[in-house]
Amino acid sequence: MATAVAEVLDHLSDVQGESFDTLALHAGAVADPTTGALLTPIYQTTTYRQEAVGKDKGFTYSRSSNPTVSALERRLAALEGADYCTCYATGLAATTVLCLALLKANDHVVVSQAVYGGTVRLFNQVLAPYGVTAEFVDTADEAALRSAVAAKPTRFVFIETPANPTLKLTDIELTARIAHEAGALLIVDNTLLTPALQRPFELQADVVLHSTTKFIEGHNATIGGALITKDATLHDRFSFTRNAIGAIQSPFPAWLTLQGVKTVGIRMAQHSANALKIARYLESHPRVTKIYYPGLESFPQFELARKQQVSGGALIAFEVEGGVAAGIDLMNSLKLCALAENLGSAETLVTHPASMTHADVPAAQREAAGITDGLVRLSVGLEDPADVIRDLSQALGERKCAA
Ligand code: PLP
Repeated sequence: MATAVAEVLDHLSDVQGESFDTLALHAGAVADPTTGALLTPIYQTTTYRQEAVGKDKGFTYSRSSNPTVSALERRLAALEGADYCTCYATGLAATTVLCLALLKANDHVVVSQAVYGGTVRLFNQVLAPYGVTAEFVDTADEAALRSAVAAKPTRFVFIETPANPTLKLTDIELTARIAHEAGALLIVDNTLLTPALQRPFELQADVVLHSTTKFIEGHNATIGGALITKDATLHDRFSFTRNAIGAIQSPFPAWLTLQGVKTVGIRMAQHSANALKIARYLESHPRVTKIYYPGLESFPQFELARKQQVSGGALIAFEVEGGVAAGIDLMNSLKLCALAENLGSAETLVTHPASMTHADVPAAQREAAGITDGLVRLSVGLEDPADVIRDLSQALGERKCAA
């Protein structure tokens, strides 16, 4: 790392303390050493002038590392309470590097049954031809998890909690214990809650993965991913693989993410408060037949949510009376909530997982994971929740009942 950068970072670490919101604003940032510009500059450069053969300032080529990307990596590592982070062009690029760095042909992994559809597709359709086997199990079921890791030597257990889109939770601490006893690593996809609401390293996770596309950046402006760890050896393997396959994030999206993440603590608190109000409204609506929201007392894993999450988060999944047709009709009738294939932004988004985010997951696997064809996923944004409720109410309204 360049000396000037190291000096500023040393100085900052003396004063910024441990507060999450302060770290979100300051961790890893460096004012431009020549101009004093407060925001970390966008180092839009491919290469770096070297002082002499074998003598550089810590950067040589932006496929290996870039100062803007490094600033984001320092901040995300600090926010997760870890030491190392590598950032990627997409969340799935992060998952791909994780697998290429840790797996070899014929290795075996255990994955939560309900995970993002692209994660399933990567294991089933990209890695399977190389002999990698992924067993999808209900990781909320301790017996099922124990028997899955006992059945075959397992390289890692990959969990997403809450899971996208069913919001089923997995006990991180228990899963870490079971994975470690079996000699496996625990990988936690923390995309849906962010470190503002869930701290996997305090529960003994080995690697945390993020699609920074979602709440970390938070404004629907970028695609990106991150792998975070406390283990220097794992980090070196991720860095090596990222460079070898060319999966690093570009400086501009890294810079936008550095701005977005400044408010992640405040945003997650507000997302959760809004989502709870909307979930309570939906729960009491006569046309809503099922609702899944970890912040509701009626949520089957409410106690686990209280144990390992700060609050319920932004995502709500629900079904309406009238099945698939009624669910689709509802999604098509919303006006303020945008029908869109993303989650985690300031705008409220509504998604039909069966035909959108999880379309590539085989129907039987979708069904086993509880992703029914009528399931509606709401990613609650930062609008006044009364306006979102008004929109839901008109879409669920009397006219629809009669139809
Ligand atoms: N993990 C989760 C939980 C996701 O929801 C997604 C995308 O929706 C990903 C990973 C993949 O991230 P990206 O779309 O940035 O590649």
